[in-house]
Amino acid sequence: METIIFATKNKGKIKEINAILEDMNVKVVSMEDAGITFDVVEDGTTFEENAMKKAVQIMEISQKITLSDDSGLEIDYMDKAPGVYSARFLGEDTPYSQRFDAIFEKLAGVEAEKRTARFVSCIAAAFPDGRKLMSYDTVEGIIGWEVKGENGFGYDPIFYVPEIEKYMAELSPEEKNAISHRGKALRKMKVLLKKELDK
Ligand code: IMP
Repeated sequence: METIIFATKNKGKIKEINAILEDMNVKVVSMEDAGITFDVVEDGTTFEENAMKKAVQIMEISQKITLSDDSGLEIDYMDKAPGVYSARFLGEDTPYSQRFDAIFEKLAGVEAEKRTARFVSCIAAAFPDGRKLMSYDTVEGIIGWEVKGENGFGYDPIFYVPEIEKYMAELSPEEKNAISHRGKALRKMKVLLKKELDK
């Protein structure tokens, strides 16, 4: 069985990807489980750049196929901010409640049609023999008017998905995986990985 490293410290993401790759003959482990403590500096200006940088650097250390993801929230009315800076928006340690207030303030009086936003996920894979793969997907929604839901993380409680008439944080993990940017990008990556591993 091929061991693949997922360059993240987030155990939730490892669970998510293992569930999606369940029927493949691979085991995905975290950097921690692989004994790697290296911190990659995410200084790229695009999701693609950050994801690939992380995958390549950790692959160079581990000499194993390495997956990595970079994700974030783009708010159209704010020129696609916070984008790649989503984790650090208004400061790394600023509570999300404060970030929500700032976003609501920026969008005060803005009608639904102009509150469009999306979560973006880029998944990169780097192989020790130099092969590289990339997948990208989004989930479209709007910035809501209130903070709603107890599930998920990050900006989920202010992200409203019109098609299902729910805020992202109101969804169960399974419901979120089925429509989310990361779920969709991971399933695309699975197809690409399968093709490469079958070669
Ligand atoms: P990273 O790709 O794990 O570095 O995530 C960047 C940041 O984007 C996170 O810290 C969150 O603020 C935001 N983000 C990414 N994915 C999601 C999501 O599924 N829900 C809510 N926020 C997210």
